[in-house]
Amino acid sequence: SVRVRFAPSPTGPLHIGGLRTALYNYLFAKKHSGQFILRIEDTDQSRYVEGAEQYIKEALDWSGLTLDESPDNPGEFGPYRQSERQHIYGQYAQKLIDSGHAYYAFDTAEELDKLRKERESKGETFTYNSQNRTHLNNSLNLSEEECQKLIDGGQPYVIRFKMPMAKQLLISDIIRGNIQVRTDALDDKILFKSDGMPTYHLANIVDDHLMKITHVIRGEEWLPSLALHILLYDALGWEPPEFAHLPLILKPNGKGKLSKRDGEKHGFPVFPLEWKDPKSGQVSAGYREDYYLPEAVVNILALLGWNDTSDQEIFSLNELVEKFDLARVHKAGAKFDPEKTEWFQHQYVQRVDEETLAHQFQQWLKGQKQIDSKLDYIRHIVHILKERINFVPDFWNEGYFFFEAPKDFNSKASKKAWKNGTSEIISNLKTLISEQNDFSKDHIQPVIKNWIQSQNIGFGKVMQPLRLSLVGDMKGPDVFDIITLLGKDEVIKRLEFAQN
Ligand code: GLU
Repeated sequence: SVRVRFAPSPTGPLHIGGLRTALYNYLFAKKHSGQFILRIEDTDQSRYVEGAEQYIKEALDWSGLTLDESPDNPGEFGPYRQSERQHIYGQYAQKLIDSGHAYYAFDTAEELDKLRKERESKGETFTYNSQNRTHLNNSLNLSEEECQKLIDGGQPYVIRFKMPMAKQLLISDIIRGNIQVRTDALDDKILFKSDGMPTYHLANIVDDHLMKITHVIRGEEWLPSLALHILLYDALGWEPPEFAHLPLILKPNGKGKLSKRDGEKHGFPVFPLEWKDPKSGQVSAGYREDYYLPEAVVNILALLGWNDTSDQEIFSLNELVEKFDLARVHKAGAKFDPEKTEWFQHQYVQRVDEETLAHQFQQWLKGQKQIDSKLDYIRHIVHILKERINFVPDFWNEGYFFFEAPKDFNSKASKKAWKNGTSEIISNLKTLISEQNDFSKDHIQPVIKNWIQSQNIGFGKVMQPLRLSLVGDMKGPDVFDIITLLGKDEVIKRLEFAQN
């Protein structure tokens, strides 16, 4: 059965590109009634960032990508954190040495640095590869005794993969098809370090094998490692899984990979959740904290690099599971579109029931404005404004005047609405309003309209200053909705204030 894993390194917050990788893994697994697994790849302790693992799990949880096996919910293939699997990898490094697929390299960092500089000064580059390894300080050029002596003497070493010389490989990727690689373009990657820790390459393929992973679905940045991984499976006598390398998510202008900076510059999040960097204390925006709905984020991410053949754009997670097809994932990078993302959010927020939105907005008012407002009042506001909003805080932007009287008036609107004679009209309107006891829209609307007609002064002359008095500007929903909700006393108070 299908088993896929999402294998992030806890080196920082999950980027939305990472979340899309997780999503595609999830969709593929669920489509084939398989397992979706989280494995934490934390062998590089120097890059470990406090809180990153927790962040990753929370982001998956928020997005609704339920894990079948994970560090917190281990299946039979645990542990699910590579740092806890440390004891497993050494034997495989040894196996590769014994079978002649890997070797000990004793070159110090200084020696390699020196070589690099020498080559650079001749305009060349240095790589540890099949051409160079023959004259470097490694076990291929030492007798077994010499080599053992160095190891026993505590000489630091690494274990490198012995990349075959001048071999033509044909490897295949579900998304990219067949790819030809010549091995002499590849270097002898480090597999194991003398501190007893494997590198990503060794740990990754050992774990994928032991955890019975059937499909590796990951970002395009790992495509250059694919040949090495296939060769490692071969060298260990294992059947490799199938591979699918996902396209990049690009900047809105299509020029390069979407980065944290793009978000900062243009004011949109590139992280699912807000992230506070433990070292710098810098806070990066997150979709969750910006009031996006996870369903909207999942939907837009699904379409960054994939579509079904129709024009359908709105897909629930279940629908995505049903329709997703790895073979239809695009090869080309997908441009991130912040406006389209907001459009999705708008679509999804319209589907949320008004009761839920009312509760959320009530919380928001309490938390952000210290305004304690009755749920019933908020319900009406939500009903009136819902179509205009993308995010819960938009209820405030679109309807702040339901909670506080205007203190000043938009000067342009003022000039247009308030003319000679307006004050007198407002005085008369005030009298009319103060005589009303029924403030329902059904009553107040015809009363005011009929009155305007009877006065022969034209609607604009009344309605514009009326709106200005209540809102402070020429915007907002239907004036009669505003009047009904504010109630008699408040309306009169605002008319009076506007007159002075
Ligand atoms: N730990 C790697 C990463 O952070 C995993 C790559 C893979 O899925 O093989 O992207």
